[in-house]
Amino acid sequence: MMKFLELKKVNHRYESSIREALGRVIDSGWYLLGKEIEAFEAEFADYCGARHAIGVGSGLDALALIIKAYGFGPGDEIIVPANTFIATVLAVTMCGAEPIFVEPDERNYLIDVKKIAEKITSRTKAIMPVHLYGQACDVASICSFAEKHGLKVIDDAAQAHGTTLLKSFDPVDFQGRAAGYSFYPGKNLGALADAGAVVTNDADLAEKIKALRNYGSHEKYYNKYVGSNSRMDEFQAAILSIKLRGLDEDNAARRKTANYYLKAIINDNVILPGVPENAGDHVWHLFVVRSKKRDALKDYLEENGIQSQIHYPVPPHKQECYPQYNGLSFTIAERLADEVLSLPISPVMKEVEAAKVVEVINAFK
Ligand SMILES: *Cc1c(COP(=O)(O)O)cnc(C)c1O
Repeated sequence: MMKFLELKKVNHRYESSIREALGRVIDSGWYLLGKEIEAFEAEFADYCGARHAIGVGSGLDALALIIKAYGFGPGDEIIVPANTFIATVLAVTMCGAEPIFVEPDERNYLIDVKKIAEKITSRTKAIMPVHLYGQACDVASICSFAEKHGLKVIDDAAQAHGTTLLKSFDPVDFQGRAAGYSFYPGKNLGALADAGAVVTNDADLAEKIKALRNYGSHEKYYNKYVGSNSRMDEFQAAILSIKLRGLDEDNAARRKTANYYLKAIINDNVILPGVPENAGDHVWHLFVVRSKKRDALKDYLEENGIQSQIHYPVPPHKQECYPQYNGLSFTIAERLADEVLSLPISPVMKEVEAAKVVEVINAFK
């Protein structure tokens, strides 16, 4: 069986440096908020072309801490895409704010920027573009729209480490922006446990998030804010520093497979993902096709030895945990949930494996 993602192979490439780093941290006797996280934060900020990066416990926490640090909560509205992983929406509701859903563009699955304006009210505080599947939204348009309306931009960059647009963090020199990254093991830059980061150019926001992740405290036992405990540990920071050096190469390998799929998959029952111009380099966290016969296609791939996955089968507004949104209707997001299928893609995928996926899919009826 061709696995959807072979994490062990992904990490084995770094095995000796990772073991060396783990030994170094054990021997240091210092396991939280030490030298390793300081080094990783500087390296990741630099990689993103931003002034600050703050390591936190997860991608969900990164997003929630940004919302909290901006002071958004009950009575405030935050624009989110209607098709996203649940964590985008959880970050909003964890803070007591209201998610306002916007339909995606069905061709590239990204929030339809043209449809944001009609959702703005006097309570709107921020827009959360999700750079879904590894493709950057039109951040320049979103930032200039936000600036005009006095809104913040909170990027959910959990699937998009290294897209060109996010590597030049401030394309329009707009200050009201922060991005939340996830280093969940399966992400393009993955730790060996949960971890996340906030990236921003806003020094005040960065300082506040540094306190919020650590009980709301800058100085031990003196608490300026009502914070939480969301720290990236020294082991994960050391591992991420090592893997960050290979990220561009890993993304290039994903792009090679994706370009091959885009060229070679030819089947009337399968719609390929659209890649808009000037959307930055896609880093292909996932390669997502659509089919009216999605479930049959998934079974058929399985029968032919290929594992695929669905990202995501139920949109957030239809989840059981949100009965208050279940009555809403977003027909494009709902249709995508019924039609999307993610094919195997990873930096360690071999050409013969990709060729097998193409051969099997092209024979699907
Ligand atoms: C993974 C992910 C998150 C959450 O990150 P965790 O580190 O798992 O908490 C948020 N948003 C999106 C789009 C994700 O894919």
